[in-house]
Amino acid sequence: MKRVYYDLHLHSCLSPCAGDDMTPNNIVNMALLLGYNMIAVTDHNSCRNAPAVAKAGAANGLAVVPGMELCTQEEAHVICLFPTVEAAMEFHRYVAQRIPKIRNRPEIYGRQIVMDEQDVMVAEEETLLLNAADISVNHVREAVCGFGGTAFPAHVDRNAYSVIASLGSVPQEAGFTAAEISAKGDVQALLRSNPELLGRILLRNSDAHYLEDMPEPSASVLLSENTPECLIAALDGKIETEWDRG
Ligand SMILES: [Zn+2]
Ligand SMILES: [Zn+2]
Repeated sequence: MKRVYYDLHLHSCLSPCAGDDMTPNNIVNMALLLGYNMIAVTDHNSCRNAPAVAKAGAANGLAVVPGMELCTQEEAHVICLFPTVEAAMEFHRYVAQRIPKIRNRPEIYGRQIVMDEQDVMVAEEETLLLNAADISVNHVREAVCGFGGTAFPAHVDRNAYSVIASLGSVPQEAGFTAAEISAKGDVQALLRSNPELLGRILLRNSDAHYLEDMPEPSASVLLSENTPECLIAALDGKIETEWDRG
């Protein structure tokens, strides 16, 4: 088993609210410099930078999980992770048909930059990625599993854009095996207020939008292989492992 230091919630320059210097190579190099073994790229409602980040990671020896931070019907954020870039892009197309076609206004919301693995800009996403998709909290995990991935609610302890902020609790019928607590969140307080999370995997990720917000690694997991497939199996409870929130 390998101890894998991970950060499964990072935004690239495709997210309007993230820094334009969150380029594929900057993210990968910063993660390696800090000592991570695995990262996930999780832009709002889009996977368009996942191919470039995955290629940059592969070229530099960093495991990259292609992902998305989906904004559900209820305005709750859910992290969706996929075993391959192809699976992520299929899910991306599924989501693209379910978000409102409202144009981004870069001067207000920020730019949405799509890059290749050389950090060359190849496109600018025109649809604003911050709106709620027509997918409900109770159906997102099932939908993601249909593409071979897994999903867990993001920053559940936050009082905006979280499943708990929107619904009061994490519904059993949503089927989540894991949940993310924000970087400085209080696990004991969360479990007291939301005992439905007892027994689920609680992950701590950074949700960094800027390079300087990427923290030193602390959370880790023991995996037989440092791959997205293995991580997803561990998150789904299909293989035995050990999680350390650091
Ligand atoms: Zn979020
Ligand atoms: Zn986020």
